[in-house]
Amino acid sequence: MATELFDKIAVIGIGLIGGSIALAARRGGLARQIVAADHNAEYAATANRLKLVDHCGTDLAAACADADLVIVCTPVGACGAVAETIAPHLKKGCIVCDVGSVKQAVIEAMKPHIPPGVHYVPAHPLAGTERSGPEAGFAELFDGRWTILTPLPDGDAGAVDKVETFWKGLGSNVERLDSADHDRVLAITSHLPHLIAYTIVGTADDLGGDLDAEVLHFAASGFRDFTRVAASDPTMWRDIFLNNREAVLDVLARFQEDLFYLQRAIRRGEGDKLFDLFKRSRDLRRTLVHLNQA
Ligand code: NAP
Repeated sequence: MATELFDKIAVIGIGLIGGSIALAARRGGLARQIVAADHNAEYAATANRLKLVDHCGTDLAAACADADLVIVCTPVGACGAVAETIAPHLKKGCIVCDVGSVKQAVIEAMKPHIPPGVHYVPAHPLAGTERSGPEAGFAELFDGRWTILTPLPDGDAGAVDKVETFWKGLGSNVERLDSADHDRVLAITSHLPHLIAYTIVGTADDLGGDLDAEVLHFAASGFRDFTRVAASDPTMWRDIFLNNREAVLDVLARFQEDLFYLQRAIRRGEGDKLFDLFKRSRDLRRTLVHLNQA
């Protein structure tokens, strides 16, 4: 007797997140059949070789036929076009989910294409690595990590509950947030840190000459951590900044003010100001560790 949550799941975009969802869904016995489609034929072949899914092709519409759950796992900038392509092939009652790191822009891009009788539930798993592509996927990616659902105000409550059960089945903890709140929170906790990492690594690279070689040779853990973050997928991060522009520019302005404050404190030799901030930061880190999110 079938006890799966869904009969057929279709994953669109079989990279780090899509591949990990497929593997975790199989581990959790969440579907009878899991298929995928990716516009990259080489990636589709790799997904088949690694047996990430029952079958992966390049035809998005074929993958979605008869699917009960379709999860769009492409970069944020491609989500609207993907929704438009698959829309005519979605069966009534199907649930469409996305995993985009930005929510408002993705909802605006996808929602107009979702046909009547199909339920759309936006989601964002706060889990990832700096790697991308199908070889990067692994079943444990979501274990103990948060997934944020940003249900539409007029969304179907039953579909939202089912998607929540699905993400819990993948190993996640699940929280629901308003999409605008999501974008503001992620701008400071994820998007700005990535922007800083990209900047620092770029500045180090621009130093040039002998110093450049020394920087790489003596890279201590702080700089090394930045290079790891800055190794994240360029397409994905370009799309995130272009699609969460307002919230990122807002926190960036605040950040620049705070940076100038520190700059002045260093120039004036105001050690107490530096010490106070560093102490506050260390306390925050300890709170994070306590919350088991560090
Ligand atoms: P990824 O490893 O690059 O996978 C994305 C896959 O989608 C690639 O195989 C890509 O192929 C394919 N693709 C791109 N455009 C497509 C289209 N129009 N039709 C079909 N397939 C298409 O990226 P990822 O890290 O899994 O990220 C996927 C999504 O998850 C993004 O929206 C991202 O914001 C979100 N997310 C990422 C993380 C993270 O840490 N990585 C965490 C949470 C959420 P090509 O590379 O050949 O274009």
